[in-house]
Amino acid sequence: MELSEVQRIVRDTYGEHDRARGVDATFGWFVEEVGELSRAIRRQGHEERVEEFTDVLAWLVTLADLCGIDLDEAMTQRYGQGCPSCGSSPCRCGELDPARP
Ligand SMILES: [Zn+2]
Repeated sequence: MELSEVQRIVRDTYGEHDRARGVDATFGWFVEEVGELSRAIRRQGHEERVEEFTDVLAWLVTLADLCGIDLDEAMTQRYGQGCPSCGSSPCRCGELDPARP
């Protein structure tokens, strides 16, 4: 599934409620989901992690949509040519700055 398709599906499924809720309240839900992802990574199994990763992505996509951002286009523009900082893939920032992991 392409990112643009993810964004379209989430918009078609939840867009009306998301627009009514607005960006600030939706951001609150996103942060709550990130907390659930954190717990799943630290304490739960694969199935729970898969669920939380998809929920976080869905809320992130919703927020992008509410802000008028096409994530597929944005990701292509920012990361399509590799690391935004050094322009390489794989990233070579660590070679240029030994302090960076
Ligand atoms: Zn880099």
